[in-house]
Amino acid sequence: MAESDVARVARWVREADVVTALTGAGISTESGIPDFRGPAGVWTKDPAAARLFDFDAYVADPQVRVAVWQRRLEHAAWTARPNAGHRALVDLERSGRLLDIVTQNIDGLHQAAGSDPDRVLEVHGSLHTVVCLSCGRRTPMADTLARLEAGEEDPTCLTCGGILKSGTISFGQPLDPAVWRASVRAAAACDVLLVVGSSLQVHPVASLCEVAKDAGARLVILNAESTPYDRLADAVLAGPIGQVLPALVGSAATTRS
Ligand code: NAD
Repeated sequence: MAESDVARVARWVREADVVTALTGAGISTESGIPDFRGPAGVWTKDPAAARLFDFDAYVADPQVRVAVWQRRLEHAAWTARPNAGHRALVDLERSGRLLDIVTQNIDGLHQAAGSDPDRVLEVHGSLHTVVCLSCGRRTPMADTLARLEAGEEDPTCLTCGGILKSGTISFGQPLDPAVWRASVRAAAACDVLLVVGSSLQVHPVASLCEVAKDAGARLVILNAESTPYDRLADAVLAGPIGQVLPALVGSAATTRS
């Protein structure tokens, strides 16, 4: 009988010394956090919402900041719990194979699931911190959420009065160079790059697929919809992530001696 695609990828994972995961919003939809571009995505339903993720608009327009902070206050991440997909990557880490999780997600669910925080590279930052765009001071998001709940609509830095923003990377904002360098290293050092729940439309993150392939790794894409990198991939699986990812790494986690 022919080996199924899932069995073939599970074997690659089992045989690998080093796996790097590249995760996107799709791994968290089963935790109740909508993605951007999937069928029920935030931008699919409301294309105008994309403006709220533009850095220049955020800095220039107080109304954009008010709308963004309202969304922050109501964000699904505050009540979301990790799902089977996040937990599968914890299992992979415990099997000794997972090098790093390069995540585009800002929700902190990999860490909440039990992944080593030092191995979670948040290329697009985190929702759990707030940064002052003037003095650079970082504070916990919980402090700012409390001010929003108390009625402030566009809270400013308590130290210098500057504009506050969540510690996430908007379009037009540079990535943290150290986090990006570590992400490139992780993509170049693996035997298998496991892309999970990303449309691979955001750059430069999507280019990590090429980094991994150029370094000789197998590229596996687990995503419900097609991506621009499917042609480069050694295997493309459609999910759902919460079922397929445990199947891919479950056997690896138990058979490594
Ligand atoms: P995206 O919205 O562009 O793509 C997500 C992909 O995941 C879609 O193609 C969708 O079909 C697929 N998907 C969704 N649920 C799935 C499932 N259960 N099984 C299989 N596939 C599934 O997301 P992206 O590529 O990560 O890029 C968008 C940007 O959005 C990122 O920069 C990220 O920072 C940000 N974002 C983050 C979160 C989060 O932290 N949870 C949520 C929304 C957006």
